[in-house]
Amino acid sequence: MKHLLPYLQDDQKAADYLRQVRWPAGVTCPRCGSTVVDPRERCDNGLQRFNCVPCATRLGQQFAMFTDWTGSIFEESKLHPLDWLLVIGLWQLKLNATDIAAAADIQERTAQRCINLLDGGIYETYHLEPSRQLEHQVEADECYQSAGSKGLPREVERHDRAPRQRGLQLRGRATAEMGRPPLLGLVQRRDKADQDAPAAQVYLEVLENVRSATIKPIVAAKVKSGAQFFTDEYNIYHFTKADYDHRTVNHGAGEYARRDPDGTCVHCNTMEGIWSGLRNFLDHFRGISQRFLHLRVARYEFLHNHGHLHWRQTFEVALRCLFSTTGDYWRWMAHQHRRMPLTLCYR
Ligand SMILES: [Zn+2]
Repeated sequence: MKHLLPYLQDDQKAADYLRQVRWPAGVTCPRCGSTVVDPRERCDNGLQRFNCVPCATRLGQQFAMFTDWTGSIFEESKLHPLDWLLVIGLWQLKLNATDIAAAADIQERTAQRCINLLDGGIYETYHLEPSRQLEHQVEADECYQSAGSKGLPREVERHDRAPRQRGLQLRGRATAEMGRPPLLGLVQRRDKADQDAPAAQVYLEVLENVRSATIKPIVAAKVKSGAQFFTDEYNIYHFTKADYDHRTVNHGAGEYARRDPDGTCVHCNTMEGIWSGLRNFLDHFRGISQRFLHLRVARYEFLHNHGHLHWRQTFEVALRCLFSTTGDYWRWMAHQHRRMPLTLCYR
């Protein structure tokens, strides 16, 4: 986080840095995209105001003002630019709300809102980005994460079921309904021959259940056809034979890796490694609600896929993602759960 130090002096410096990342080629109007904008006096919290000349003319007004944050997910936030800069830096260190609150000297409730907004922005702009596809050598695997209706007894009542059973072996494959939503992991192996190749690129999706019908559209959308596709023997992957060079290792027979005659290494060890990293990350949240699981998983996915970059580069890629959304997804989320205060998810 050292590179942030010069910008953490005051709100104006923080706002200037954030503006530089949002508009590297110069400020443009978030409404009309025009570059004919005049800087005006700053807001009390250090944000720069601008007047868009074309918008003012179009509206027949003297001014059409916007600020550094107009049309971004930060627009409605009362937190100052300096605090946001610090929070985003701590968010990148994979901290939970309690730790961010302590480190940034803000309320835990505020920190909780902040990480939901940031994770939601990354989910919307990075995780859901349709052009991101995996190719060459792709491993697939699934794992299960305990996540219930944390802090929401009403949710449990609504489903008319007993509270989630903990620590007991359940029969069959777990589902979200049973309190253990499955996760599908797809990972493109790192090209070892290429020194500059980025880290293994991963795509993680929280599922309702593990059935072929659930997994098929995700694999079709995310893995380029013709890729080598490595899984275990589990029959939900059988459909991939049609579009991919599908090879399996037989975990049941104690086989975890093998080299095929054509020299291809057949295993799912890359994905296994990512699962252990993800578990480690999710453990920091000390129990996680199903409402937020996909957001935390999206943060892990983003940070993992940018792990090969310098800290500052990752920070700025994250910021550019966040500035590329207006937070529609987040508003939708908040609307869905309007009667469930955010603080409840964190005991
Ligand atoms: Zn304009």
